[in-house]
Amino acid sequence: MSKNRLFNQTKISLTCWYASIFSGIITLGALGVYEAIAHAHYITINQELKTVAGTFHDTLEPLLLKPNKLEKNVREIIPDLCLIDEKCDNLYYENRYITRLIQQGKYYLKFYDLSGNLLGNAGIKIDNLSLNHPSEEFKTIQDNQNNNYRQISLLLHSKNNQEWGYLQIGRSLEEFDQYLNNIKWLLVLGLPLLIILVIIASWYLAEKAMKPLDKSYQQMQQFSSDVAHELRTPLAAIKATIDSVMLTENLSIKDNQETLITINRQNQRLINLVNDLLILSRLDAINQNNYLLEKTDINLIDLINDVTEELSFLAIENKINLCQDIQIKDNLIIQGNEAQIYRLLTNLVVNAIQNTPESGLVTISLENNKKEVIMAISDTGIGISEEDNLLIFNRFYRVDKSRGRDKGNSGLGLAIVSSILLFHHGRIELESTINKGSIFTVYLPK
Ligand code: ADP
Repeated sequence: MSKNRLFNQTKISLTCWYASIFSGIITLGALGVYEAIAHAHYITINQELKTVAGTFHDTLEPLLLKPNKLEKNVREIIPDLCLIDEKCDNLYYENRYITRLIQQGKYYLKFYDLSGNLLGNAGIKIDNLSLNHPSEEFKTIQDNQNNNYRQISLLLHSKNNQEWGYLQIGRSLEEFDQYLNNIKWLLVLGLPLLIILVIIASWYLAEKAMKPLDKSYQQMQQFSSDVAHELRTPLAAIKATIDSVMLTENLSIKDNQETLITINRQNQRLINLVNDLLILSRLDAINQNNYLLEKTDINLIDLINDVTEELSFLAIENKINLCQDIQIKDNLIIQGNEAQIYRLLTNLVVNAIQNTPESGLVTISLENNKKEVIMAISDTGIGISEEDNLLIFNRFYRVDKSRGRDKGNSGLGLAIVSSILLFHHGRIELESTINKGSIFTVYLPK
């Protein structure tokens, strides 16, 4: 599968995941809000009904004389009361609190005897064929025009404390249903709009999530092509040498030796390259996966002495004066991986020697402050331009492409230094002037 197709497919599937998860959360949230509003309204209406019913209960009971009998004197409280056997079109409405309450709140009142037979009613008229038995406390009912009502039923007692019958008070839910209906429409129209926004945001997020992957994929591709390129040069040189030997008849001992020297040199380049690649990939694995690598106490003065001694032959060969500038008298100990710090210092000193003309000076100095030890490798060499300053720590970057290869350098020396410093939580700074020299300063935490 091509890279672009793979990345696009992953981006689409990430978008789908993000969008479905966020849309699900938003839909559930909206339904939750809707349910909470409806529930809060029901509680308020139940409370209101209870208060109204309580008022009627307390005012009516002293007027009820015999069980199951609704007297006309109840009209003192409910002037528009219509008894079941009366014609009640032109009843006189007194401007009383209870009457007003019934009219404003769209209430209805119904009286039932103990067997559930209707005795009288007042307030708004509702046509409902299936009225429930009045002993049920709260109930929501619907009239023939599908209007909803919430009602409460309560048992009334007569003046002499006998069970009298039931009072049923109901309230129209028209305003409430209208309000919930508006919210429903708001959700029905608003949710798809929100989901469209979520899809756009998910696409943007997926693109952001893919960017680092895309970058590291490109780096990987670049790295493999660099490795292939680095391997091809010595392999091609070895093949060319072997081809020319095979074409030559009567090879002298001198020619034989020269051929072997060339093959050996190219072979050494391959070994250096493979070794450096191995080191780098191990360091990558350590830094990326936080693997633990053995750390011990390192005596830096001893370590600098060892590196100076090991590289003194190379310095002599290149006619370079390699020296130390260490003012510290006591031992300077840090925690770290000794082999890696040794390699770091070696890479920097070898670079300094190789990039300094004959009779130049390479100095290793050591200082410390409260938090860090500071190792500086300075040379009086060719220097590094400002543009190259940032690039030389990249893998396979060489300032002078052919010069480095000729010396058998892999172009990975400073990349290895960076990785070692990453593992030790250190840093490196470079100061350089063309044709005057460079100072690589390494800071390591104590
Ligand atoms: P190489 O293995 O080729 O030395 P490095 O990563 O160690 O690769 O260095 C990258 C490049 O930085 C080298 O090609 C060299 O040109 C430049 N460089 C490193 N150290 C110095 C120095 N002390 N003075 C001048 N140039 C340097």
